[in-house]
Amino acid sequence: MTITSQGGTAGNNRSGSQAQNEEELKELLRHDWTREEIQKLYDMPFLDLVFQAASVHRLFHNPSEVQICSLLSIKTGGCPEDCGYCSQSVHNETGLQVQPLLEVEEVVTAATRAKEAGATRFCMGAAWREVRDNRAFDRVLEMVKTVNGMGLEVCCTLGMLNEAQAQKLKEAGLHAYNHNIDTSPENYGKVCSTRTIDDRLNTLEAARSAGLTVCCGGILGLGESDSDRVGMLHTLATLDTHPESVPINSLVKIEGTPFAGNPDVSVWDFIRTIAVARITMPKAMVRLAAGRLSLNPEAQSLAFLAGANSIFAGEKLLTTPNPEFNEDLEFLKHLGLRGKAPDTNEHVC
Ligand code: SF4
Repeated sequence: MTITSQGGTAGNNRSGSQAQNEEELKELLRHDWTREEIQKLYDMPFLDLVFQAASVHRLFHNPSEVQICSLLSIKTGGCPEDCGYCSQSVHNETGLQVQPLLEVEEVVTAATRAKEAGATRFCMGAAWREVRDNRAFDRVLEMVKTVNGMGLEVCCTLGMLNEAQAQKLKEAGLHAYNHNIDTSPENYGKVCSTRTIDDRLNTLEAARSAGLTVCCGGILGLGESDSDRVGMLHTLATLDTHPESVPINSLVKIEGTPFAGNPDVSVWDFIRTIAVARITMPKAMVRLAAGRLSLNPEAQSLAFLAGANSIFAGEKLLTTPNPEFNEDLEFLKHLGLRGKAPDTNEHVC
């Protein structure tokens, strides 16, 4: 079976439940995408693109499963970086209350609540520029160890880190390290000036070298062009190993940030980006992340059809609003979808 950038699939149209020829699947798992090929996918007629993405999705994943993740801010605000979309940067006057690093017990309470509500992946975010070898990091290692012991897939986003720090996180039981590239290499300087996209890629490399899985995606609505969206996906899809997790966010506009007045992201573009992520990184979990509130249930259903297979549930995503667990469980049930179990296996994308 061949997936083309012209629309449609060539060859068999077998259902995902039938065993697929390993060679055929390997053919779809490419790391040599050209930017032009990805642009062609992005520009396809919308329904053809969704159909193609849905076909790939069914070959690599169980389409009935959606992973529910929970994201907790373990240290909020006061970040020295100047990301133009973020309420937590000291460069943006958003009125956000700074909160020091939580205690391990507070994290356990939140993780227990998330697990009881159906989450199988628990992400912890600290508004740091980088990880430092200090007592705060030791406390994070303790958090990772404890939450991992609860049978949850643990992910952290703590800023830049080196390989030795990544190794310590791995030894503590961390499953994934999140570090988004946000946008294309050309647009990156307009989003953040206190670091470069290469700094981001170096951190991803450190996480990878330590044996962690990688969670890396982007944000739509940062003043980027369609070509920048393609550039962001091209950067990820041509990595030697695709990120196992690709969160696609839509900007949640926050008063006091430079991007507060940016135009709304079109729902169609949001879903288009999800579909292209699914086709170009077929094994990855594609996560419908921040900005989900801007999609009505019908649009979210279309996003699942286009290959999204994970959502973040819980009232907040770090500092931005998000749907509640119960609302989501009802919604998934309505679509005949069910929560996915935690993934503790190593796998190569
Ligand atoms: S996105 Fe992360 S690194 Fe950037 S300002 Fe916010 S907390 Fe800091």
